[in-house]
Amino acid sequence: MIFLDFYKNKRVGVIGLGKTGESVVNALIASGAEVRVYDDYIISHKKCNAFNIDDVAQMNAMVVSPGVGLLWPSVHPMIQTAHKNAIPILNDVDLFQQHISGKNICITGTNGKSTTTALVYHVFSSAGEKTAIGGNFGNSLLSLAPQSEFFVLELSSYQLESCHILGFDTAILLNITPDHLKRHGGMEGYIYNKQKIFANFHEKSTAVIGVDDRHCLKIFQFLKNVNHPCVIPISGNHVPKYGVGWNKNKLIDNSFGFREVICEKNPILDGIHNRQNIAAAYVACRRNGLSKELFSKGLFSFRGLEHRQELVANIDNVLYINDSKATNADSVEQALKRFDNIVWILGGRPKEEGIENLVKYFSRIKFALLIGEAAENWSKLLAKHGVENEITKTLDVAVKRAKEISKTLQADVVLLSPACASFDQFKDFEERGSIFKQLVSAEKC
Ligand code: ADP
Repeated sequence: MIFLDFYKNKRVGVIGLGKTGESVVNALIASGAEVRVYDDYIISHKKCNAFNIDDVAQMNAMVVSPGVGLLWPSVHPMIQTAHKNAIPILNDVDLFQQHISGKNICITGTNGKSTTTALVYHVFSSAGEKTAIGGNFGNSLLSLAPQSEFFVLELSSYQLESCHILGFDTAILLNITPDHLKRHGGMEGYIYNKQKIFANFHEKSTAVIGVDDRHCLKIFQFLKNVNHPCVIPISGNHVPKYGVGWNKNKLIDNSFGFREVICEKNPILDGIHNRQNIAAAYVACRRNGLSKELFSKGLFSFRGLEHRQELVANIDNVLYINDSKATNADSVEQALKRFDNIVWILGGRPKEEGIENLVKYFSRIKFALLIGEAAENWSKLLAKHGVENEITKTLDVAVKRAKEISKTLQADVVLLSPACASFDQFKDFEERGSIFKQLVSAEKC
């Protein structure tokens, strides 16, 4: 756990008691702070007293959890009162930054954050470096081992919104497509919070940015114009000028102005999207002192993450792929680009943007099986575009039908890539993916 000595004997209010809020409470208590808590839905806490709006002015600082929006959908009254009384508002990332001296590598983007974070961590650990991983992925920041030399951190737009200190050593922004728009008051707010990852940079900061979408391309041009000391563009489908990317199946480093071949593609982590992740991870590793040989060794021993285009089984020459983490159309697009002749299992609680953007890939679908709340509407949409489909309602029925249909139609792949949140039928995407894997295993017998 990280010791927050700056807050010893200080009165600190913690707002929001999710996983992150609890880790902040624990670290502050262990550091000798006088901690009070507030949550819209929880009125008592076993370790410390609650506070209310009249107590805000007495606080030395307030720490907000990522679940608490500062501006949208409305300014929380606690935040408003803190502002009125000039009480500093921080979050766990700020506390981390105030107390840690190891180098940080921070990763954000709409998609690919966890894969890239896990890959960078894997390469550093395999190279024998004392490295910790956490943030939006894995352990809470304040529970990490403080003496680590490198911290590989996944940061969400929610966390970046309430971050004030910033000034990361290596900051990676992979891509931006619409997501969490209500929470950020629209696309502009979302982009603003994502690009905060590059704010307050210092002279040794490295900015790594994907240039495969127009929003990130604009941010890249902006950073070049303000003379950021080190900005490296990366891509999953070409080699950018003074950047890192791909030519055919080779990862090429052109960031020093000459082309150096780094390694071949990794079949386990492939597709344009994963190539973008690999290029970003490579820059983070190389610019923090690892050789290209150590990077390649780590890359080829990385097995990928569960629930992201994960190969579960090959039954009668049909591949069963668990892509339960694909909760929005953009991440499903990556799977539809990669596979063909697909029996597609989709549905759940739909997101605002729907699946209209995926119509161009519908020719790759042999049959679709629909589950959850989205089933009725999406069945009509698929039929309108000539995709045969069936509403199975639940995942167990979908898997059984997928096996039968893949045989009859000679499909190559059964793909669970839902384009939806899981909460209508499952605890989270992990539970949905794990149940899919169990159901597929049962079909093997
Ligand atoms: P995140 O942590 O940002 O949600 P993950 O690494 O967990 O991202 O990947 C989630 C899904 O997003 C994957 O299943 C894949 O389909 C898609 N994806 C991964 N990397 C990228 C990328 N660089 N660009 C677009 N989509 C991606």
